[in-house]
Amino acid sequence: MKRVRTRFAPSPTGYMHIGNLRTALFTYLIAKQNDGDFILRIEDTDRERFVEGATDVIYSTLKQCGLDWDEGPDIGGPVGPYVQSERMGNFKKYAEELVEKGQAYYCFCTKERLDSLKADLEAQGKTYSYDRHCRCLSCEEVRARLDAGEPYVIRQKMPLDGEVTFHDELYGDITVECSELEDQILIKTDGFPTYNFANVVDDHLMGITHVVRGNEYLSSAPKYDLLYKAFGWEVPTYIHVEHIMKDKQHKLSKRDGDASFQDLIDKGYLTEAVVNYIALLGWAPKGEQEIYSLSELIKEFDIHGLSKSPAIFDPLKLKAINAKYIKALTPEKFEEYATPYIRQSAKREDLDITRICELLKDRTEVFTDIPEKVDFFDALPEYGTELYVQKKSKTNEEIALDSLGRILPVLEGIDENDWNEQNIHDKLFELIASLEVKNAIILSPFRVAVSGKPMTPGGGIEIAALIGKTDTIERVKKGIELLSR
Ligand code: GLU
Repeated sequence: MKRVRTRFAPSPTGYMHIGNLRTALFTYLIAKQNDGDFILRIEDTDRERFVEGATDVIYSTLKQCGLDWDEGPDIGGPVGPYVQSERMGNFKKYAEELVEKGQAYYCFCTKERLDSLKADLEAQGKTYSYDRHCRCLSCEEVRARLDAGEPYVIRQKMPLDGEVTFHDELYGDITVECSELEDQILIKTDGFPTYNFANVVDDHLMGITHVVRGNEYLSSAPKYDLLYKAFGWEVPTYIHVEHIMKDKQHKLSKRDGDASFQDLIDKGYLTEAVVNYIALLGWAPKGEQEIYSLSELIKEFDIHGLSKSPAIFDPLKLKAINAKYIKALTPEKFEEYATPYIRQSAKREDLDITRICELLKDRTEVFTDIPEKVDFFDALPEYGTELYVQKKSKTNEEIALDSLGRILPVLEGIDENDWNEQNIHDKLFELIASLEVKNAIILSPFRVAVSGKPMTPGGGIEIAALIGKTDTIERVKKGIELLSR
């Protein structure tokens, strides 16, 4: 069997769209599950879209995601160069080969002629398509005009009738009427190839066996197919993947700040979770499993599990997957990631960050949720006494006032040097036992008093140990004062 070679061919736009990253991932997985080569080719010929530093974004994103390429601009390989703009010299001779084969032709139509053709067609309510004016020029005329230095383009000669059928792994056979296909330009007046020509020649020269791309390319695929056939080249396996949508009507877009990989990382998601999630965008694994490492994906991924309908990006699902990855982090790794987020709002020096991390770890879905969760450590927030009304623990303001009144002397009785979780716990549980009440009658108001919040990482005991005796006593007194008003 032919060695599988796939390529990721991004245009350097300055950011990595989630859809592109998914294409890279699928492309990588196909190569790796077949022990093949994953090739990176930078398609930078659209100079208008060129953005400084944009190739670095491509490199760093792929590296961060573990999608290591076997051949590419930075590491070279047998079929380089791997940057499209450096391959420009190559294409004209291929177009000329097609002219000789009678599959392409020189076109000398001026811009003025084409503009007026366009205007005429539009006036008739028709869409523009080149009228094949130069398709039947005699060899002599062509020669003479070339010799005279007239500017020209080279166009692909589409069959005038009949059908062309190409095969897509996902969509099956797709047939189009040849008469619908324009004699597209292969080589422009400046001698450079169009994208549609360059990508076919490059894929062939690089020995690409599988082409994965967004289905916005589906309408161009018959033209590509005819080009391969005109050259007599083997057609690669095509896999056109569906779009990723924000909802039923809208694509994910960069403008909304939700489409790029970096946006997600900045929002506090882990790289591995993002990679895992995007694998599931449009691909349905056979079983129930949802959490996949990259090496598991290499084993399990199957192009036949790809969907033919658009995938909807579901932030809640991504969050849930991210939470699982966070849970699976070692305490050390979690602390490394979480500390900067904790420090955004909890700045006091005396905090035991390791302990806070232990309390946070299983409750964190995304790191960016953390600052808001720990914002009460530095200062007790303003809060209303309605927080003391809690159905589940059967407490209300009256009960809370009574509980805090009993908690205060107990805490005051603990020596400053013995102020730790264990002792606070023991003393409060002695109180609970002596009162013969449910734990929550004491612990729930205590938590509200020390945090000023309805929900906290850890309970009152842990928080009290973290903020110290003086602060705790002060906060309990504040609770009593609020409740006595
Ligand atoms: N450079 C093209 C893009 O970024 C790649 C298309 C393809 O994979 O053929 O859209």
